[in-house]
Parts: sequence; structure tokens; C-alpha cells
Amino acid sequence: MDYKIAVIPGDGIGPEIVREACKVLDVVGKKFGHKFCYTEVLMGGVSIDKTGVPLTDEALETAKASDSVLLGAVGGDVGKSNWYKLPPNLRPEAGLLAIRKGLGLFCNLRPAVLFPQLKKACPLKDELVGDGFDFVVVRELTGGVYFGKRETVTENGVRKATDTMPYDENEIRRIAKWAFEVAKKRKGHVTSVDKANVLDTSRLWRQVVKETAQEYNGIPLQDMLVDNCAMQLVKDPKQFDVILTENMFGDILSDEASMITGSIGMLASASLGETKLGLYEPSHGSAPDIAGKNIANPIATILSAAMMLRYSFDLEEEADCIEAAVNSVLDEGWRTADIMSEGCKLIGTKEMGDQIAERI
Ligand code: NAD
Repeated sequence: MDYKIAVIPGDGIGPEIVREACKVLDVVGKKFGHKFCYTEVLMGGVSIDKTGVPLTDEALETAKASDSVLLGAVGGDVGKSNWYKLPPNLRPEAGLLAIRKGLGLFCNLRPAVLFPQLKKACPLKDELVGDGFDFVVVRELTGGVYFGKRETVTENGVRKATDTMPYDENEIRRIAKWAFEVAKKRKGHVTSVDKANVLDTSRLWRQVVKETAQEYNGIPLQDMLVDNCAMQLVKDPKQFDVILTENMFGDILSDEASMITGSIGMLASASLGETKLGLYEPSHGSAPDIAGKNIANPIATILSAAMMLRYSFDLEEEADCIEAAVNSVLDEGWRTADIMSEGCKLIGTKEMGDQIAERI
């Protein structure tokens, strides 16, 4: 089958890591009889340089007309680049917000995987992580306190600021469905995280998630308060499979979750909406400090491509195949500089892509 993929290399290390992900996809295509057709789309600093804006309407239309989008990263050195002298709505990262909004992406999936081969990078004690952990944070992306009404006023000489945290049941139901769908493709249990002992939005969240769970009979659901979840992540991360949560809690917990894996170059992510069209990108940024040196780790982007196969195209076996290839390369001791340790073999971005492609 043919799949149309909009490819956004972006800035910094973006083009280098996306090239390796496409290389791996091509080999998967050959092995399994699919054709991945790429259309390059400009976004971020490169788009500003060529068109004056971080994302043109045509670029967004191209992304909308695709089956899925693969993104490297956007942005430059915030202290040095002229892009950051522009108003915020014209800076590289504005492209990211515009494409997420334009594609209606309300669900952010961030897997936190500690590969047993990289255990030394994990800041947690050995006995807490055992053979590693593997869970995913499902974060609501377009509602809650980041999008609620806010104001700052001065009353009787006292400055006062208010943020509101609105959620309606439809917003909760659609993200809860994604969490159960993800759990179906994994080991299969959901931990829904809220602050239902205090917040009305959380009490509604809890009810709607419970109702949604009834459509997914057989997938166990557990509720957990967000403060407890923050502790459990560093006390016993192996207990989690799918963590479902709202926007702000998810923002904080997904960063905590990625930190305990210790290796930013390994972490994939996906943003999804009502349709199968998703945006897949590494969790890290454009790393301008190492751009153009063939030392960036392409694995996060390659694993993001695997997520694309699994969630947008339902190509489960093909996604497994990429993940197995990454595991086998790590087992054999091949490492880029960011994950290098004693006794391992140091290789560059391109060579890491070659190694993974070869094992497909
Ligand atoms: P960053 O993630 O780009 O880099 C942080 C550190 O991690 C750097 O030392 C970098 O060299 C290293 N690093 C990151 N990815 C790596 C990889 N694949 N292999 C090896 N090392 C890697 O974060 P930053 O420095 O805060 O931001 C740089 C730029 O990226 C900024 O302009 C920022 O706005 C942008 N950014 C973009 C995205 C995105 O496109 N989704 C996300 C975050 C940051």
C-alpha cells in the first residue's frame, strides 16, 4: 500500500535525523511491500528565511493532505539567532503550535522507555528499575488551564491574577478513548491521573474516564492523584503502562517521565487527533550546538517513525520490526556520543541509521 508522508526536516539537527528515519522507513517499505511517498514541507527557521513566516498556509495544506507528518525539530540558538528578534508569533516554534492547531491534534503520546542496555543513564537506583521500564504518557493537549480564560487585575492596589481550567466531557472522552486504544496495543492498563480531591474538572474527568472504560471492557483502569503519581514515577516506574492525564499535569509528568530515562536522544513522541493523521517527532529540540556534525542520535526520530506505523497506519508488525532493530543495535554495543559508555562502540548519526536499517 502507498502512504503519503509530509516530512518536515526543520532546523539544526532536524535534517540529519529525519534523513535516517526515512532511510529506515524505506527499508521497512521494501521488506513489507509498502511505498512511503515523502513530500518535504518547510517549517521553523528555514521557512522564516525563505518565506518570512514559520509555517505558510500552503505548507499546512500539504500536511493536511498527507496520511501523516514526520518532523525533525525546529528552532535555533535562542541567544544568538536572529529568528528570536522577531515577534513571538513569527518565531520558529510558532510553526509548531500552528501545525498542531491546524491538524486538530489534541492528544500527545510520550513513551518513556528505559532500554535495559542504557540503564546506566537512568538517575534512579538499580533496584527501582530492574530490567528497565516502558510506559507512555497520554496528555490532553488543547484544553485545560493553558487555554482557559485568564486575567491580571489590580484591586485596591493589590495585583491579582486568575487562570481558569475548563474541560467539557467531550474533550475528556476523546482523550480517554485514545488512552484505551493505546492500552489495547500494549500490555493493557490505564492509570488516570487527576486531582479529584480538590478540583471540579478532575471530578468530571474521573467520571467521564470511568464511563469511557466501560466501552473498553477488560482494560483495567486505576485512578491516581497527581501528587502521588509524581512520587510513584520515581519510586516504582515499572507499575505504569498508560498514564492518562490532562494538559498541565501531563506537561509536568511527561517531563519527569523522560528525565528518569536519562537519554533525551532516545525519546519519541506523537500528537494525534480525531483522524489517523498524526504528527510524529522526537521529544528533544533542534540541538543547534551539535548540528551538522554527524553526532546527533537519530533513534528518537526513528522510534517516532515506528509510532507512525503503529498509530497512523496500523502497521503493528512493521513498527515492532523497527523497535527490535533498535534493540539489537543497542545490544551489540553501537552508540552515538550522547548514550556512549565504556566498552561500547562510538558511531555517528548516519552510521546509526545504517546499522538500524541493516537489521530491518
Ligand atoms: P534540545 O533538546 O535541542 O537540546 C538539549 C541538549 O540535548 C543539547 O545539549 C543537545 O545537544 C542535546 N540533544 C538534543 N537532542 C539530541 C540528539 N538527538 N542527540 C544528541 N544530543 C541531543 O533543547 P534546547 O537546547 O533547549 O533547544 C534548542 C532549540 O530547539 C531551541 O530553539 C528550542 O526552542 C527548540 N526546541 C524545539 C522543539 C521541537 O521542535 N519540538 C522542542 C524543544 C526545543
